[in-house]
Amino acid sequence: MGKARFGVSVDKELARSLDRLAEALGGSRSEVVEHVLREGLSRLEHAVEDHECLGLVIVLGDEGRSQEVFEEFGDFLGAGLHYHVGGQCVSLAVFRGPSGALRRILSRLMGLGTRFSFVPLH
Ligand SMILES: [Zn+2]
Ligand SMILES: [Zn+2]
Repeated sequence: MGKARFGVSVDKELARSLDRLAEALGGSRSEVVEHVLREGLSRLEHAVEDHECLGLVIVLGDEGRSQEVFEEFGDFLGAGLHYHVGGQCVSLAVFRGPSGALRRILSRLMGLGTRFSFVPLH
């Protein structure tokens, strides 16, 4: 399989983590990026392919704005939980619904610049 090259801009702290990981794992920066990208993309693909989806939405920090998103999409997000861990807000909600709604939720969270994760449960 051929390789594609492209330039990306990332947070400096993220770049330092990447270098630390590459060194600890004995791989190259590109290998670590490729691995992480593959994992992250396979999760996000749940939002792209049309299907009835089930998964867990996790949001770190930024209580107010992420709560707004959780309320806006309340029809699809059940069993919301909110914790404070290490001085940081952690919100969890189970998503169940069409992938189009998941796509809108993830795109809103991305727009807020909050840290979030989607864990597929199927
Ligand atoms: Zn899915
Ligand atoms: Zn909180």
